Parts: sequence; C-alpha cells; structure tokens
Amino acid sequence: MRKIDPKRFKIAKRHTSREINRQIALTLIRTHQPVSRADLARLMGTRRGVVSILVNELLAEGLIFEGATGEGGGRGRKPTFLYIDSRERYVIAVDVRATRTYLMATDLLGKPLVGVTSFATNRTLAVLISNLAQKIRSIVADHQAVATCQGVGVVVPGMTDPKSGRVLHAPTLGWRNVNLKDPLAAAIELPVHVENSGRACALAQVWATRDHAHIGDLAFVSVSDGVGVGIVVNGEILRGQHNIAGEFGHVPLSIDGPRCSCGATGCWEAYVSNLATLSRYFGRNPNEQKPMSAEMATFTIEDLISRARNGDGKALAALQSTGRYLGLGLASIINAVDPGRLYIGGEITAAWDLIESSVKAALAERALTDLAARTEIRTVSVEEHPRLRGAAALVAAPAFAAPMVA
Ligand SMILES: [Zn+2]
Repeated sequence: MRKIDPKRFKIAKRHTSREINRQIALTLIRTHQPVSRADLARLMGTRRGVVSILVNELLAEGLIFEGATGEGGGRGRKPTFLYIDSRERYVIAVDVRATRTYLMATDLLGKPLVGVTSFATNRTLAVLISNLAQKIRSIVADHQAVATCQGVGVVVPGMTDPKSGRVLHAPTLGWRNVNLKDPLAAAIELPVHVENSGRACALAQVWATRDHAHIGDLAFVSVSDGVGVGIVVNGEILRGQHNIAGEFGHVPLSIDGPRCSCGATGCWEAYVSNLATLSRYFGRNPNEQKPMSAEMATFTIEDLISRARNGDGKALAALQSTGRYLGLGLASIINAVDPGRLYIGGEITAAWDLIESSVKAALAERALTDLAARTEIRTVSVEEHPRLRGAAALVAAPAFAAPMVA
C-alpha cells in the first residue's frame, strides 16, 4: 500500500516517480477541474514545461481532455481547460448485504450512470457469484457501444483481505474465509476488487472530499443489517495485522447484552443494527431463536421511522434507544482513535433529527473530554449510496493520488 498525501504536493519533484506525478496531476485536475495548464503547474509547484509533457501524455492516453469553460468575452485567446475524461470508461459497483445485493454503474469520478438495481442475496457463494455475473454481463452489454468497463468493486459486510480478495469473516452472511474475487473475476473477465463496506465508505469519503479538510483522520460508521466501520488515520485506511482493525461493531457495550451475528453477546452491532431497533420496537428478545412474527418479518426500519413521525411513541422510543447506543459506541471510537470527523450512513440517518439529541447526550456522557464529545458528525443519506460509491472508488480511486492506493 502506498500513501500519498494530496496536501503535500511538494513531493512532485523531478526525482519522484513518473507514476506518482501522473496520479498527482490527475487528482489535481479531478478536484479543481476545469483547470488550466498554468494553474496545474502552479498547484504542482513545478515548471510549465514539465507539466506540458505530463499533460500531453495524459491527453494522448485519453485520461483527460481539453475544453473551454463556456465563459466567453475575455480578452485575447480563450484558454483551454483540462478535465478528467470520464466519458468512455466506467466502473461497476456492487454492495453485497445480508438481505439484498445492489449494483450501480458509475463514471470514473463516481457519478452514477444508471439507476441502482438489486436482487435478493443468496448466501450460497456459488449462487451469488452466478447471479452477480449475470447482472454484470448485462450492464456491460448495455454499455458496450459507448464505454469500457474498467473493473468491478465489491463491498461486503465483513472483514476482507484486499490483496487476496478473500472474505475472512462476514457474520451476517455466515461466511468464513471464502474467495469471492477470483471466481467472479473469472466469470466476468474483468478485474474485481473486494473490500469491507465500512472501509470502502471511508475511502469514498476521503476521495470525495474536495477541500481536503479532515482528510487525515475520520471514521465512517455504516448502520444497516450489521454495523460496518472504516477508520482513516493519518490519511491511511486502518487495517491492522489481520485485517480486522476498526471492527467497532463487534466491540461489546455490555458482556451480558443481546446475541450478535458474530456469535458473541453484547456487541455494539447487536444494539444498533436495524434488526436490533426493530426487535426493540416489537419487544422481541433477540436471544430467542423463535422466528419473527409475520408483521415484524415484513416491517422495515423505514416503516418504523414513519410511525415515529406519525406520533407512535413506542416507535420513537425504540429509535431514540438506538440513538443512545449509537452515541455510546461512537464515544468508544472517539476515545480510541479521536477522528476529526465522524460520518454516519445507513437507513437510520433518515431519523437523525429524531435521535440526534440522544446520540449527543450519550457522547457527552462517555467521550473523555468536552472537545472530543463535540466531534463533528455528518450523516450520509441512503440516497447518496455511500456503499456503492465506496465500491466504485475501489476501482476508480487508485488511478488518482488518494490517501489509500491499494
Ligand atoms: Zn459481534
């Protein structure tokens, strides 16, 4: 893994590798576009002649294109501006969840090209791979005439080894040490990248940040069927020795708590997942193996939020309890890694106005200093597709000088 801090462009000197200079140039064009050659030279802190050679290479390879800004009326020759050429290349993003699997095609900047499609997740790996391959082939066939697929990014709710593409442990899917990457890549004849959903969300957030503020230290918490967490420290995704670093979802809030998907009891996930919130509302003991009632089986977290908004006090109380547990777990993240900013994704964000005070109160109770308790929290709505954007970033981001380049 290579770490490149996009704030430190001084590294773009003659002795640095050509590849790093290319990545820096692409990153600067991506984040500042439209940008003139002169501006690019200034941003890179290097001579115009050097930049011209680099730009000509990128133009020849079709990675960037030149165009006007469309604002006429200036004196003299109209300057041309550089843009990332995202027109003829795209990536396919896949979000595998315990219940459903989602797919989306995006351009190289992460902009969606077509709507999201989904199908019920079959937890038998071979069946899931076959279902995925079929959907991916159909997206590729639809785009064949206009664009080339650069690869497929897959995010999964579990710990992964990004080098081998193996899923080490995905509790909600019941997978241990399975190879998702190679059979899928063989079936679709495209490069495949596999990553933990929380980490991919964190990567996408870093990648999407244009102001470069807080880029170095952040945490992304994705609350859904389970809880995925991605931690970025000093601009790098935290992985640890065994690829399980940052798994705060399985840090216990109480050792006597409810049973978790991982088999342990009292994990944070067992208190804040959508199922945990619904169980609380329906008064169902999550430790009992009894099947859910028919009503609960079809009831969603969105239904619960709408009931809370329509005056159902029990629904509001269930959500606010989740808010409190969410805050307690966030305090653990703050006390452990002290990020500059916390991002929260997942369906629960639609109820943020209802639970924010519960989250903040729990944070104030547990964060070790007042300042830390006031760590900025930003929600990322379901409509922004953070997990799919994360999956797209796995393919698209390595071409740029991102803090994590796999
Ligand atoms: Zn657990």
